[in-house]
Amino acid sequence: MKDLEKIIYILKQRGFVFPSQEIYGGLKGVYEYGPLGVLLKNKIKNLWLKDTVFKRENIFLIESSILGLRKTYEASGHLEHFHDLLIECKSCHQRFRADHLFEGDYGEVNYKEGKALCPLCQGELTEARTFSLMFKTYVGPVEELASEAYLRPETAQGMFYNFKNVLNSMRPKLPFGIAQIGKAFRNEITPKNFLFRMREFEQMELEFFVKPEEASNWFEYWVEERFNFYLKLGFKKENLKKHVYPKEELAHYSDATVDIYYNYPFGFKELEGIANRTDYDLKRHSEYSGEDLRYFDEEKKEKYYPYIIEPSVGLDRLLFAIFVEFYDEDEVDGEKRNVFRFPPFLAPIEVCVLPLLSNRENLVKKAQEVYKYLKENDFICVYDDSGSIGKRYRRQDEIGTPFCLTIDFQTLEDNTLTIRNRDTTEQERIKIEELKDYLKEKLKF
Ligand code: ATP
Repeated sequence: MKDLEKIIYILKQRGFVFPSQEIYGGLKGVYEYGPLGVLLKNKIKNLWLKDTVFKRENIFLIESSILGLRKTYEASGHLEHFHDLLIECKSCHQRFRADHLFEGDYGEVNYKEGKALCPLCQGELTEARTFSLMFKTYVGPVEELASEAYLRPETAQGMFYNFKNVLNSMRPKLPFGIAQIGKAFRNEITPKNFLFRMREFEQMELEFFVKPEEASNWFEYWVEERFNFYLKLGFKKENLKKHVYPKEELAHYSDATVDIYYNYPFGFKELEGIANRTDYDLKRHSEYSGEDLRYFDEEKKEKYYPYIIEPSVGLDRLLFAIFVEFYDEDEVDGEKRNVFRFPPFLAPIEVCVLPLLSNRENLVKKAQEVYKYLKENDFICVYDDSGSIGKRYRRQDEIGTPFCLTIDFQTLEDNTLTIRNRDTTEQERIKIEELKDYLKEKLKF
C-alpha cells in the first residue's frame, strides 16, 4: 500500500497541490494547484482533448457559464433530486453521508435496539435529513427568488441548453458531440480523501448525441474507448475496474451506467462514469424553456430528441489516480529515492539541463545555451546548477522529470551531452543536434 500521507507531503513541498487558504486556517474540500500541479493538469487536459475531441470528427468544444439560472436546475432535475442524506452523531457531532456510513466507509456500524450507532464513538445518531448539494447565490443586489442562481454542479447542463446553438452554428449530423472542461461545485457533506471528494473541482465531460436506436451500441463503444484511454495513459490494468450499475441503482436520468473504478489507497472507487442519459435532458429543457430542442433528421424526414451518451471524469480525481499510480520508492547507490514514474508525455517538467559543475563558467554558459535552445523549441524545461549533481538528479526524480541533460567537459570538445533516464538512472551520450528529435520521439503520447 502506498503511503498517502507521504505523497501528499511531497506534493505540497514540491509545488503540486497546496491546502486551500492555509494561512487563514484552510477551506475544507478545496485545494490550490501550484506550478507543477498546473503543468500536469494542463497535460492531462490536453491529452483528454486530443483523445476525446480533436482526433475525432464532429465533436465540438464549448465553455458554458458557471452561474446558472434556477430554471436551468429545475429543468435538469437537480433541485428536486440532487440531495444527499445527512446523519449526525449527537455525541461527537461527526457528520456522515448516509450511504457512505452504511457502506462501511467509517468502519463497522453497530446497532442498539435496532438503531445504528456512530461508528466513531458509538454515540446516538440523528434521523437522516436531506441536504442539497447545490451552492446557491443571488445575481444582482436583491436577494429574491427571481434572482436566485446556482453554481453548476456539473458542466453537462451547459451542453444541453446550448444544444441548439451548436447545432445551428456548426450544422453537424448525428452522431455528434459537445465537450467541455470546467469547474463544478458541490457542497459535499463530508469532503474527504484528498482530491477525491472536493467541493470545488473540475470536470471533463462529453455529451454525445445519437439516434435513439443506436444508443446502446454507442454506450458500449464509449465505455471501451474511455477504459482504453487510461491504459494509454499508462495505468496498470489491474488497478482499473468496470462497475456496471444494477437497474435499481441508476440515477433518475439514466438507462445504463458503467463506472470506471481506480484502485485508490482507500479501495476501488469511481474515477469516471459513463451513462446513457436517454432523451431525458433535451426533453426536460424543451419542456421548461418552451424551445423545441428536437433534431430534424433529413433522411427520415422526422423530428426527434437524440439520446445522449455521457462519459464524465473529474480532472482532480484523475490527477489523484496519476499521483498514486506513478509514485514509487527505490534505492539508488545505497540511498532511498522518491520518484514519480510519470510516462514522459505526462511529466510536468520534461527536461532538466545541468552543468556538471556550477563553478565552471564555460560549462554554465554551454548549459544555458542548451536550456534556451530547448525552451525555444517548446520543451517544458528547467535549468539547475545548485548543489551536487547527485542531489540535483534526486530533486528531478522526485518531481518525475524523465530526462536530465548533463553538460560536461566532453560537451565542450565534441558537442555531445549525456541524457540520464529517470527510471533506470542510466546515461547515454548524444549529439546536441540530435537532441530535439530524440526528445520529441520520447515524449510522444
Ligand atoms: P460520487 O458517487 O463519488 O459522489 P458521482 O457519481 O456523483 O460521484 P458524477 O455526478 O457522475 O459523480 O460526476 C462525474 C465525475 O465527476 C465523477 O466520476 C468524478 O470523477 C467527478 N466528481 C464528482 N464529484 C466529485 C467531487 N466531489 N470531487 C471531485 N470529483 C468529483
